[in-house]
Amino acid sequence: MNELTIMSRCFDQVRRVAKLSPMYQKKFAGIPVETMMTKEDFETLPFTTKQDLRDAYPMGMQCVPNDKIVRVHSSSGTTGTPVIIPYSAQDLEDWAVMFERCYQFAGVTPDDRVQITPGFGLWTAGLGFQAGAERLGAMVIPTGAGNTDRQLQLMRDLKATVLTSTSSYALVIAEEVDKRGMKDQICLKRGIFGSERWGDKIRERIYETLGIEFFDIYGLTEIYGPGIAIDCSYHTGMHYFNDYLYCEIIDPETGKVLPDGEQGEIVITTFRKEAAPLIRYRTRDISRIVPGECPCGSRFPRLDRIVGRSDDMIKVKGTNIYPSQVEEILKNIEGFSSEYRIILENKDLRDRMIVQAEMKEGYDADALAEALLRGCKSGLGIRVVPEVMKLGELPRSEKKTQRVIDKRY
Ligand code: ZN
Repeated sequence: MNELTIMSRCFDQVRRVAKLSPMYQKKFAGIPVETMMTKEDFETLPFTTKQDLRDAYPMGMQCVPNDKIVRVHSSSGTTGTPVIIPYSAQDLEDWAVMFERCYQFAGVTPDDRVQITPGFGLWTAGLGFQAGAERLGAMVIPTGAGNTDRQLQLMRDLKATVLTSTSSYALVIAEEVDKRGMKDQICLKRGIFGSERWGDKIRERIYETLGIEFFDIYGLTEIYGPGIAIDCSYHTGMHYFNDYLYCEIIDPETGKVLPDGEQGEIVITTFRKEAAPLIRYRTRDISRIVPGECPCGSRFPRLDRIVGRSDDMIKVKGTNIYPSQVEEILKNIEGFSSEYRIILENKDLRDRMIVQAEMKEGYDADALAEALLRGCKSGLGIRVVPEVMKLGELPRSEKKTQRVIDKRY
């Protein structure tokens, strides 16, 4: 779809929610939505945040009469008021259409047997995986979460060919298959893994053990659920469905829309959703739009792999940096352990970023420092101060380890 069509659909939705949704009646009060039409106009609209949805609890974002709502889901609440998202029959159908496309991008066919290990219920994941697979005509094995013994037994006996799960559970499955020497007894060919940021080390481990091709799937409950984007067999980013969604990438600090290719927070508008449409919803997920066309020929644009959450962002020398980027750089240098720490200073009024990382035994500290310096220069675009430490020298914590210490004033 071209930009004009997408903009006109977005504004149709904006005008609709301004009339029908109690949440947006408040939010858009005083904004001349009736006369807005350009991309520049659109970018002046306020963002929608998770807090807005909490404040609208339980159904303040509802845009259709009660008899049109056929289901609700809830986002995995961490603290405080949960977020409830209502769906119309059409919304569920649209979600299943997108999810079916995801399976097609991953090369899944009606001959496949799809084991669904994400949970079922209020959380959206399992039901989305199931609806898409059934629409495609594949056989569904809806095992749901947990009980690894039963998962492995059914995977073997029913000859599952596709594993769908979170990346961390895929790792659990892979290690159990390895431990039990079951590799020859399973028929898996593909994995569709999602919902969290996962690094190359986990990918390698799963690949080594299961020997399957796998695909990153993306989504969040507020925006249908998983299944709104997936990578294709070229693995150059996740195609998202721009006939349902409008994606913007913004600078999480200033809210300014960034050009394609630049990294920032994903902001999504659901211009076809009926029951709970969202306008400019801040996902907190950090990625970028991959410029150009994918070698697969698909016209659906691509989002890059998720690198982190905007809450984790630090700003150094005018550059936005995520600790996960440093983690990836360290993983790609042979000789570092997984422990690291970032210290930010500005003693001489200039930002200084010190990266402390632990060296495994038998490596040369100077060479590692040099490699770290180079890795950060090319990966982050800034010059850091590398400090190579001995194994065990950095403080360990039983709780979440503090990776960033900001001493700037
Ligand atoms: Zn592609």
